[in-house]
Amino acid sequence: MKYQVTVYDQMLSDVVQKYSKLIFNYPKDKIWNPKGVSLQRRIAADPAFGKKVDKALRPANIEKYLVKQDSAAPARCIDGRLIAGWDQDDAIRQGTLGPKLAGGTVHAALAHRIVDSEHMRENLLFEEDLKYVIQRFKEVGLGSGGHIDYNQTGSNTGCGAVDNINLILDRLQRPEHQEQLRELSRLILGESYDGEVVVNEVIGRMLYLDALKPTYMPKQDNDPAGEFLYKATVVKTLREEAKRAREVVPALTGPHNEVATVLNFVPGTTIDTDRFSYDNQNEIQVFGWDVWHMYEEARRLYTYDMHSQVQDQREAIEKRIKYVTTRTLLGVSTLVVLTDGSIQLVAVTDK
Ligand SMILES: [Zn+2]
Repeated sequence: MKYQVTVYDQMLSDVVQKYSKLIFNYPKDKIWNPKGVSLQRRIAADPAFGKKVDKALRPANIEKYLVKQDSAAPARCIDGRLIAGWDQDDAIRQGTLGPKLAGGTVHAALAHRIVDSEHMRENLLFEEDLKYVIQRFKEVGLGSGGHIDYNQTGSNTGCGAVDNINLILDRLQRPEHQEQLRELSRLILGESYDGEVVVNEVIGRMLYLDALKPTYMPKQDNDPAGEFLYKATVVKTLREEAKRAREVVPALTGPHNEVATVLNFVPGTTIDTDRFSYDNQNEIQVFGWDVWHMYEEARRLYTYDMHSQVQDQREAIEKRIKYVTTRTLLGVSTLVVLTDGSIQLVAVTDK
């Protein structure tokens, strides 16, 4: 095998207990979403399903779906569902794939704002940040993208990571979720994880942004029970962007059937989740997370050279680590909001 594929032997919600020796923990259903995507429920309903999942997650099988990626191609979300029309459209099937990160470019815009929350203009809208980041990505050779889905209703976009930004930020501020979200982030970031300075600062920045939400992410008629207005406009922005590149915003199809999250640490690669889902009748899917690409984005967004003032160099480096930490926290919080924690965890690394 070309890569090292590790399938963790416990469900996502138990990984932290095993690796970080928690003494006290809140009950799972207080942290995860009991109504979310669940592997446990499916195995309980059909015991034979567990065997199918084990087979699909075998390292030699996972490795087959690791392909070269192109950072300039449209960014993709972690979502494991199959793109509508994938089996009929050669152009979709043969096109180069962009990187997979939770919420695609919409979360990149949110992370950008969190890293730079002190320079927020009065009455700035989240949508303006998205437009800025799309432009900035273009300048540094990164593609932008996101997705909708087949049964998108009301003002929802159909992307769980985008529609649930409110809940994702909420979980990052709640006491019950802290250990789980921080320790999962530590697992993903390894030596780049700084739980004392960077994580605390980033969460502080999220709290600050949350207080500004009524103006940054206003709701319809400013009604607290209303819908967030950004949902409709971000899809419009992504569509305009895709049209310019003669592409479309992909619609993902079928129900969520993810059985695992695949953390991909191999630079230059991504997981072809469409082919994986297609080969498994869209009944077994995986969330794909190109961990390495968070660093790539940070490197391109916050630049410096050796002739810059030392202070500027330091600032760029600090922003990189804050950006990577922010995207990681937003990504793990997305999994906490979308799943019940019973899915598996797989890591792919270079040998
Ligand atoms: Zn999504």
